[in-house]
Amino acid sequence: MKAIRIHSFGPPEVMKIEEIPVPEPGPGQVVVTVKAAGVNPVDTYIRSGLYRPDLKLPYTPGLDAAGVIAAIGEGVNHRSIGQRVYVAWSLSGTYAEQVLCKEFQTHPLPDAVTFGQGAAIGVPYGAAYRALFQRAGAQAGEVVLVHGASGGVGIAAVQLARKGGMRVIGTAGTEAGRELVLAQGAHHVLNHREAGYLDKIQELTCGRGVDVILEMLANVNLDHDLPILTTRGRVVVIGSRGRVEIDPRNAMMREASILGMTLYNATDKELASMHAAFVAGLEDGTLRPVVSSEIPLAEAATAHHAVMESSTLGKIVLLP
Ligand code: NAP
Repeated sequence: MKAIRIHSFGPPEVMKIEEIPVPEPGPGQVVVTVKAAGVNPVDTYIRSGLYRPDLKLPYTPGLDAAGVIAAIGEGVNHRSIGQRVYVAWSLSGTYAEQVLCKEFQTHPLPDAVTFGQGAAIGVPYGAAYRALFQRAGAQAGEVVLVHGASGGVGIAAVQLARKGGMRVIGTAGTEAGRELVLAQGAHHVLNHREAGYLDKIQELTCGRGVDVILEMLANVNLDHDLPILTTRGRVVVIGSRGRVEIDPRNAMMREASILGMTLYNATDKELASMHAAFVAGLEDGTLRPVVSSEIPLAEAATAHHAVMESSTLGKIVLLP
């Protein structure tokens, strides 16, 4: 089968398509024929050597995918050959024609959801759900600012927060992005490239401030986030690409919390809980992953440039 392989860390061009053996499922494992693989910013950090310098080379990148179960190992009781599934993490990497997974790294994909959409669930919806519910403990009736709502995680966060009964304010840097954020259910949208845009928060919340901020670019925004929180407000750092200076007094006065979040820390129970919520939301149509572009698997390098260099307006997926 064909797979993208990385023999040394480096720029996107280190990714090469190669022929490798088809994986065989062991006990408790399944093999999925990949119809679409999701591209996440974290794939680029790992490829560059920044995140997992200990990773054994060569490796196949990719955490998310969707496809059809091709083979099942001994003791697999909840998956069957031919079943449509989405993959959230795997044993062998998803940028490939087939991927080896533990049984419960796969989840049922409803017929109404495309494979491209299925490849847009694992990391983006996982990060959004963990930040919103498992870290911030957001409740119906609270006001949530999704700071960077037009990308993969932001779109998921807007949909999840709306479904959860929250008042949602999103931000985006382009007109197309702002339209997209409103279409996902945000009550208001702001332009994070406009000077003074956070001043509008007071008016939008009748002077109260926001309860929860999901922050995609903390190194730019964290110091500006703290003053717009209400008492006991929470900022969850989902993404950050550098250092930042804050005024701790802004947290002190509000008894505010700055919470880190990494999906890698989710326990099996927390993962099971979030995926049960995703399958239910996909079934009833309240969760609708947005695919912005489909790129052939062999052109994975193009996808890695795109995810880091421009507004994605949804998910980039690779097609084997
Ligand atoms: P993405 O699809 O590339 O989206 C990036 C988002 O950041 C877009 O909405 C973009 O908006 C927005 N943005 C750009 N400039 C901004 C600014 N000044 N203020 C606020 N937002 C701004 O990426 P993603 O998949 O959604 O991931 C978002 C971040 O979360 C990445 O840094 C990623 O590494 C991180 N992440 C972390 C975890 C974790 O476990 N901690 C998991 C998943 C993702 P415009 O394009 O409209 O300007």
